[in-house]
Amino acid sequence: MTAPVQVGPSTNGGPTPDRPQLTDKQLRVLRLIAAGKSRNAIATSLGTTPGNVANLSRRVFAKLGAVNAPHAVFLACQTSLLEVEHPRRTIKPRRHGDHAGFVAHKRRGEEPCVECRAGEKAYKAERWAARKATHLNVA
Ligand SMILES: [Zn+2]
Repeated sequence: MTAPVQVGPSTNGGPTPDRPQLTDKQLRVLRLIAAGKSRNAIATSLGTTPGNVANLSRRVFAKLGAVNAPHAVFLACQTSLLEVEHPRRTIKPRRHGDHAGFVAHKRRGEEPCVECRAGEKAYKAERWAARKATHLNVA
């Protein structure tokens, strides 16, 4: 059998403590694991045996300080060993001319457009009127 898997931070000093150095083959294994491939599929991709893939995976887990495959993928993402591709966020059509539109402009650091400024003015006036009405009712 292989040497026992060392879990936790290594003491023999890698390139950087938080980003372990993997060989090209180990990185390929990690990418295939992250892609959800089975051990047999990874073996086929790499032209090796499932047993060898298991050994490679154990080396990868040990280097990352991971206890299993999901943990390894998580740690690899955290240390940017694996880059996560974010699907383009769907951009909602923007609505202009009300308070939400005004806030959206501000949040983007933009100068609110005319419609939104008018909408915000109306919103404030409405709130002011509502507050005034409440005070009048209380008094
Ligand atoms: Zn606007």
